[in-house]
Amino acid sequence: MTAVINPATEEVVAQVAATSLEETDAAIERAHVALASWRAVAPGDRARLLRRFADAVDADVENLAQLEVSNSGHTIGNARWEARNVRDVLHYYAATPERLLGKQIPVPGGVNMTFNEPLGVVGIIVPWNFPMPIAGWGFAPALAAGNTVVLKPAELTPLTAIRLGELATEAGIPPGVFTVLPGKGSVVGQRFVTHPAVRKVVFTGSTEVGKQIMVGCADQVKRVTLELGGKNANIVFADSDLEKAAATAPYGVFDNAGQDCCARSRILVQRSVFDRFMELLEPAVAGVVVGDPAAEATEMGPLISAEHHGRVAGYLDDTTNVAFRGSAPDGPGFWFPPTVVLPSGPTDRIVTDEVFGPVVTVLPFDDEADAIAQANDTEYGLSGSIWTNDVGRALRVSRAVEAGNLSVNSHSSVRYWTPFGGFKQSGLGRELGPDAALAFTEVKNVFIATD
Ligand code: NDP
Repeated sequence: MTAVINPATEEVVAQVAATSLEETDAAIERAHVALASWRAVAPGDRARLLRRFADAVDADVENLAQLEVSNSGHTIGNARWEARNVRDVLHYYAATPERLLGKQIPVPGGVNMTFNEPLGVVGIIVPWNFPMPIAGWGFAPALAAGNTVVLKPAELTPLTAIRLGELATEAGIPPGVFTVLPGKGSVVGQRFVTHPAVRKVVFTGSTEVGKQIMVGCADQVKRVTLELGGKNANIVFADSDLEKAAATAPYGVFDNAGQDCCARSRILVQRSVFDRFMELLEPAVAGVVVGDPAAEATEMGPLISAEHHGRVAGYLDDTTNVAFRGSAPDGPGFWFPPTVVLPSGPTDRIVTDEVFGPVVTVLPFDDEADAIAQANDTEYGLSGSIWTNDVGRALRVSRAVEAGNLSVNSHSSVRYWTPFGGFKQSGLGRELGPDAALAFTEVKNVFIATD
């Protein structure tokens, strides 16, 4: 049994049994057996089942959200958004089974057509930072394309995934088609990589483990999607709406206590407006409401665990030039205040590493070329923001920044209608958007001779 801890109170909220290697194998076998009947379900019926799953999630939004608040310390507002995101993503991909269109290709001597065939069993490994949405971005398109799914939530945050598994069953998703297997990454997750019946692994988490997964998948030429870390730039030009850029910057990085691969954790500000920006940023940071995640007004909760708190705190010491900080409660809970750092330069560890906590650095840049060079001076390339009122510059800089998800005059990264994923060491492949279900298929091309 693994104790599940509420990170805001440090109290045990549940005990969850860890799936063993033998149980993992048995679940993968059941998923393998279920494949033939699931892919044979008529497209309209598979769509209907996914819509029923979405309706079951919709009816359970408040329960799922409360579970996430107590398990992950997410604010209640965020947790409701996350549960609804699962619902919406299921509805979006419920449209897929009836639209998995192939092609008819003109060839001499006959007819050539293509089919999008399901891959088989898909293994999804979910991190602790967004337990619900990241699970849904994997299982909804995978199921829609006719695959069966085994899903491993993070050991720290299994409760909402377990509930989603129950809701799938209640909605009539057949046995073996979608199975949630709480347990250790080194046992359950690793078995997804080595078991030959698992034909694709979808992994979201640290770049370090992601690289191991990629190496492991190579052995069986297994398909893999990786969503890894980020160290994303928030580039503020002098010609932008500086008030708005400063007022929103804290939410671009401190949302989910900075435990977000898309966190804009490097603010780059044009030198001519640097001081003014910092003046505007200070009250915005002080205004972030940090506290009990179950309270409606709360904007930021605790970090996920004592261990992670130690990791984040390890980036700051007496020599760190902290410009200013927000507030955080005393007492139990893994609290860390929003923290703004003026680093000595772009090579400081706090500027180059993914801190994954409510810590942001602010550095000046001289011109457009300097901003782009600094933004790209990282092994990561997941997301970023550009603040400017010059539409030409917005497009030039967006095209030049090496990252998968950019927003202009906004900090939003994830919209389920659009592809999401990273450049460079931030990942491999894309989730979400209209083509995500195709990433869970193989193209088969069939020639029929007519002559
Ligand atoms: P990990 O990469 O270790 O964990 C992510 C998931 O992978 C968890 O479900 C974990 O299981 C599983 N896992 C761990 N090891 C293996 C393995 N060998 N084979 C298969 N699955 C495995 O992330 P951490 O939780 O350790 O976080 C460390 C850092 O990673 C963070 O500080 C942050 O920088 C980054 N991170 C980035 C995320 C992102 O969204 N890009 C998400 C989470 C973390 P288990 O729960 O058992 O550990």
